Amino acid sequence: MTLLDIKNLNLGFNLSNGFKQVLYDVSLSVNKGEMLAIVGESGCGKTITAMSILKLLPDIAEIKSGKIYFKEEDLLQKSDFQLQKIRGKNIALIPQDPMTALNPLYTIEDQILEVIKLHQPNIKKPRELAIRALKTVKIPNAEERLKSYPHELSGGMKQRIIIAMALSCNADLIIADEPTTALDVTVQAQIMKLLNDIKKEKETAIILITHDLGLVAENADYVAVMYAGKIVEYASKTKLFENPLHPYTKALFKSLPNMTSNKLIPIEGHPPSINEKINGCFFHPRCSYVMDLCAVKSPILLDIKGTQCACWLYEKNT
Ligand code: SF4
Repeated sequence: MTLLDIKNLNLGFNLSNGFKQVLYDVSLSVNKGEMLAIVGESGCGKTITAMSILKLLPDIAEIKSGKIYFKEEDLLQKSDFQLQKIRGKNIALIPQDPMTALNPLYTIEDQILEVIKLHQPNIKKPRELAIRALKTVKIPNAEERLKSYPHELSGGMKQRIIIAMALSCNADLIIADEPTTALDVTVQAQIMKLLNDIKKEKETAIILITHDLGLVAENADYVAVMYAGKIVEYASKTKLFENPLHPYTKALFKSLPNMTSNKLIPIEGHPPSINEKINGCFFHPRCSYVMDLCAVKSPILLDIKGTQCACWLYEKNT
C-alpha cells in the first residue's frame, strides 16, 4: 500500500537576487514496510525533499507546484495546526545530529513523555509506554536512563532515544536524515539494524537520506539518485546495484573504494551552485558520455525495463 506519494514537486528559494529553483519535478513514493534511500552529493536536494514532507522549510523556501500525498491526503493543503498533529505522531524525523533534537536542559523522561502526551493525550500510563519504547530500542536499564540528561548519554544512545520517541507514537513513516553520520561504524550498524527491525516488525516505512552507498546496499528496498535538484535514476536497490544506468550513478559507484584497487576515481568538476544556470542535462559538464543534445535539452525520467532514468543515452531504447 502506498503510504507517501510525492508528485512533481517544484520548490525554490527566494534569494536577494531572485527566485532560484532547487527541486525540479521530484516524484517518488514509499510503501508501508519499505525503505527508500535518497542518495546524492551534498546540496543535491535530498534533505529539502524530505523536509518538504513535514513542511519544515526555511522561510525563504517556496513550493511552486506539486502534491505530497500521505495516506491519500495532500499534506501541502494542511494547515500548520493540522501538520503539527501529523509531525511526530504519523511522521517522525531522525536528524543527523541527535544532540540538536534533544533539549540538553530536560531529562529523557521529560522529553519522551512530552511527545507521548502531546500525541496520545488519553494514554493511561505514559511512563510505562516510554519504558517499553526504550526497551524496544535496546537501551539497557531503561527506567534508570529516563532520569538521564542528554549529555550523560553516548551519540548512539541519543540516536536510540530519538528512535524510541518515534516508536512511542507508532509513526507510520520515519524520515532518517543521515542518521548514522555522527556515529562510529559499530554503532552505525546497530542503528541500521534497529531501523530494519522496526521496518519488518511494525511495517514502518522509512526514508533514508544518505550519501553512503554501502548503507544503501545493505538496507534499502528502493533508491532515488538525485543530482542538482532532480531525480536522475529511480529503481529497486537490486536493479540499481546490478545495472546502474545513469552516468552519474555509474560515476558514484566508480568513486567508491573497493578491495581490488587502491585507486579512487573521483567525479571531475562539481555540482552546480544554486546561482549557476545550466542548460540541458544538469550533469552534462561532468558527464563522460556527453552528446551535443545534452547541452541543449533536458532529459526526462523514462522507464527503462523497470528503472526510471533521465538520460538521452537511453532515448532510443524506450
Ligand atoms: Fe550524460 Fe547526456 Fe545522459 Fe546527461 S543526458 S547524463 S550529459 S549522456
